[in-house]
Amino acid sequence: MSRYHARITGKDQAALADLVTKHKIIVARHTIEKVHDGYRIDAHATDAQLKALEAAGYTVDRREDAEAEGKVRQRETRARTAGPQEPESLSVAAGTGYLDVEQVEAALAAATATPNDTFARLIKLPHATWEKRTCHALKIGNGSGAARPGIYFLGGVHAREWGSPDILIHFVQLLSNAYTTHTPIKIGSRTFSAADIKHVIETKDLFVFPQANPDGRHYSMTAESMWRKNRRPAPAGHTKPQCCGVDINRNYNFLWNFPQYFDPQSPIANSTDPCDYEVYIGPSAESEPETQNAVWMFDTYPNIRYFVDLHSYSEDILYNWGDDEDQSSHPDMNFQNAAYDGKRGIANDNAYREFIKSEDKKIAVHLANAMRDAIRASRGRVYKTEQSMSLYPTAGTSDDYAFSRHIVDAKKAKVFSYTIEWGSPDNPTPFHPAYPEMKQIIDEVTSGLLAFCIEAN
Ligand SMILES: [Zn+2]
Repeated sequence: MSRYHARITGKDQAALADLVTKHKIIVARHTIEKVHDGYRIDAHATDAQLKALEAAGYTVDRREDAEAEGKVRQRETRARTAGPQEPESLSVAAGTGYLDVEQVEAALAAATATPNDTFARLIKLPHATWEKRTCHALKIGNGSGAARPGIYFLGGVHAREWGSPDILIHFVQLLSNAYTTHTPIKIGSRTFSAADIKHVIETKDLFVFPQANPDGRHYSMTAESMWRKNRRPAPAGHTKPQCCGVDINRNYNFLWNFPQYFDPQSPIANSTDPCDYEVYIGPSAESEPETQNAVWMFDTYPNIRYFVDLHSYSEDILYNWGDDEDQSSHPDMNFQNAAYDGKRGIANDNAYREFIKSEDKKIAVHLANAMRDAIRASRGRVYKTEQSMSLYPTAGTSDDYAFSRHIVDAKKAKVFSYTIEWGSPDNPTPFHPAYPEMKQIIDEVTSGLLAFCIEAN
């Protein structure tokens, strides 16, 4: 079924909220813009959905057919992967197309070969995926000690967002090479000195888990390019292809059972329907091996204090919280307090807002701005730094789960947590732009991550 990339204009914000709740449209939440005739958002939808919207009074600006253009991206990727699997073919900087699932794994293994073996170690994740794939992560750091701050980068959670594993592999390749050769890294107008790189690797632990959902990535790269979920088999009796899979980034243990916690009127972008194309939360919190692997990293490396989850698209850097707007004056008004069940997830009201200490918010914003400034220095793209909650709240996401851990259990580290949504809505096939544009995005986000590593202490 074809899905179109489109701009949809509704008369007011409530009309846009209906896109998610009533029309089941895939919207890029943070692309909402006030325009002369209402509010506009970037979205993906089927032909039938777009026609229904036009009939209901929305203005629809159709861009490309995302599935047809996705086939072009798939062909470009196969053209890259047809060549021999030599180490140089794993270089993202020299590459001409996206890394496939095997190449990402091969690049991780190669990143721990001599001379990197003194500071880079391969981590095997314990849970095999539904299609029996084994995932790996890297630990990069020269030295040891519990006081070293841990910084955890996660990618490849959503299948169709092809660029995140490539960004993280590039980050690893660039950083490792600079460290072993004692050279600076220059991206756009920003220079990361050899001394800064040495300081990061010798005083901090970096954890890089670039391909959390390899089954989904493989399916998106070879079959249905717009696929987002993992590949959990469909429940018995469900035969439609969209009834497989769980949205990993709605499966974490944070307000997971959203109908219990949220206002019934909240336009929350989550679903309990296994056949939801996008945001099925799964049969229980952390039901999925992919989610369990991502969580295992926090549990296994308790010095992790910073976390960035890479997604696309909309050129945003999002910080906590995603379930409701932030507030710093009522500590009792928080996600653990059952007195507020049924009240969460409405923007611009006072019935509920999520608590964050003002000093934590200050750090959260400061680090987001550090990433933004380094991204801008690459080629001038200005990513917005904002709270994850927008018109559409979320539950069960990685960033809120990561920051909630220390509140649920005071023995756990406080983890400042972010979601980056790389890439512009102006790109055709914005979930997987043509590779020449993707390489520009790879450079700019790498710059943001390097600045983050320097700033996070
Ligand atoms: Zn995503």
